[in-house]
Amino acid sequence: MSLSIKNHLIEGADYFLSPNQSDRSENIDLVVIHCISLPEGSFNNDNPTKLFLNELDFEKHDSFKSLEGLKVSAHILIERNGSLIQFVPFNKCAWHAGQSNYAGRDRCNEFSIGIELKGSIKEEFTNDQYSVLNDLLDLLKKEYGDMDVVGHSEIAPNRKNDPGPYFNWDLINA
Ligand SMILES: [Zn+2]
Repeated sequence: MSLSIKNHLIEGADYFLSPNQSDRSENIDLVVIHCISLPEGSFNNDNPTKLFLNELDFEKHDSFKSLEGLKVSAHILIERNGSLIQFVPFNKCAWHAGQSNYAGRDRCNEFSIGIELKGSIKEEFTNDQYSVLNDLLDLLKKEYGDMDVVGHSEIAPNRKNDPGPYFNWDLINA
């Protein structure tokens, strides 16, 4: 697959504008990899998309109650089949990392791009996801300059454990 960017959006990706974004105060030099499924381990639904749009019904599942009131979104979600959904243009700050620190710098949202993989910390990711993720990383570096690639758990180690032990860093063009 050949990806391209226009106006800070991936051409051909589905696009739903999330309100959970703000202007950036710093240049982009980091990519943060996450994984999400709601409920955990259930991949065949659009609950993460609804969460990022503040449209998730928190009564739908017991595990959703702790998410109520959260205002979060990644820039982009990679589905299990490799299809892409974008929520925030890359030049804007998406609210994906929360309280975080990378190399002595706080507030990683300000200088990072957040990529969610539909998935679980307890399961393998798909080949389609790795393939699209690598295309995306190459494209982002070409467009915005070189960047480090880290997992969410690396910048918020006391709070977060995604993308988890099944995410294979050896398959990533970092
Ligand atoms: Zn995360």
